[in-house]
Amino acid sequence: MVVVGAGLAGVICAQTLRRAGVPVAVLDRGRRIGGRMATRRVDRRPVDLGASYLTAADPGVVAVVEDWRRRGLARPWTDTFAVAGSPATTGPLRWGTPFGLRSLVEDLAEGLEVTSGITVDSVRRHGDGWLVGDRPARAVVLAMPDPQAHRLLDESTRVDLPTAAEFEPVLALVATWPDRTWDFDGLFVNDHPVLAWVADDGRRRGDDAPVLVAHSTPGFAAGHLDARAAAKPAVIGAVRVVWGVRAPTATLIHRWTFARPSGARPQPYALTDHQLGLCGDGWAEKPRVEAAFLSGQSLGQALADRLDL
Ligand SMILES: Cc1cc2nc3c(=O)[nH]c(=O)nc-3n(C[C@H](O)[C@H](O)[C@H](O)COP(=O)(O)OP(=O)(O)OC[C@H]3O[C@@H](n4cnc5c(N)ncnc54)[C@H](O)[C@@H]3O)c2cc1C
Repeated sequence: MVVVGAGLAGVICAQTLRRAGVPVAVLDRGRRIGGRMATRRVDRRPVDLGASYLTAADPGVVAVVEDWRRRGLARPWTDTFAVAGSPATTGPLRWGTPFGLRSLVEDLAEGLEVTSGITVDSVRRHGDGWLVGDRPARAVVLAMPDPQAHRLLDESTRVDLPTAAEFEPVLALVATWPDRTWDFDGLFVNDHPVLAWVADDGRRRGDDAPVLVAHSTPGFAAGHLDARAAAKPAVIGAVRVVWGVRAPTATLIHRWTFARPSGARPQPYALTDHQLGLCGDGWAEKPRVEAAFLSGQSLGQALADRLDL
């Protein structure tokens, strides 16, 4: 069987199948696995470009995170974030990582057959099974945002699925300074036209490097998806005004066209009678890293039970 997408959901889905004895191949178009748990080297440091942190409430996920903590892969970061113009807000414990969030997906992928750098362009019915690109498979999982999954399928397949969830874009700016002139772990910016959130990348990683990662509002990103260079000064300007920092010494900007679903969905995954599965953070009440984990895991279990028959 084939899993397309080696983000967290695809990797945990494939690992669940593999542990149940189902042979599984994982394909991903990225150069590295991890999807939106993306990490890029900036000044030789692993900077988180996508998800800022993870939280864990489900007992199974708590156990996995605790294992990562024990092995030095995850670290408790903070439960308190600043809010621009308002008192700080406290919530669940947020976990960061010394090596970047991608390292957690890589850890979970241990032992899996994963091929990176392959873009699947279609998934079609083929006899009793499927053709994933030109690769035959008895069953297939699309572990990615709905807009990406649905464009691989033809109309006759899409009718078996719930309506596609809509996803919102985000632009992520990485900015570095010679020294730290702010004092927060993370900063929510409410009702701003450009800026939604700023994370202190050094503090979440634990090395205190003076690096911030700022996320734009979906509205600002939607207007600048094809004009990232032009968007950069606006995001930098917003960070400087909101927190009164000097101009950064280096910046880069990344586009997330499908950053997060705009709505919630109660089902944890989709699975058709023809063994086509969809999973990911779009299959959750609250889209986030933990939701992607649980969606991929529950689809993997459901498929393993079915393929066992
Ligand atoms: C800017 C941003 C901030 C976020 N902040 C947080 C946060 O602070 N906390 C939190 O819990 N969550 C956060 N999230 C959400 C979190 O990143 C996601 O919930 C989680 O990573 C989703 O994992 P996934 O496996 O469902 O999807 P993805 O990580 O998107 O994985 C999909 C994979 O499919 C692959 N793929 C797509 N199409 C194809 C194709 N045709 N062929 C081959 N491969 C393909 C992609 O390369 C990708 O690797 C954030 C996300 C973004 C973008």
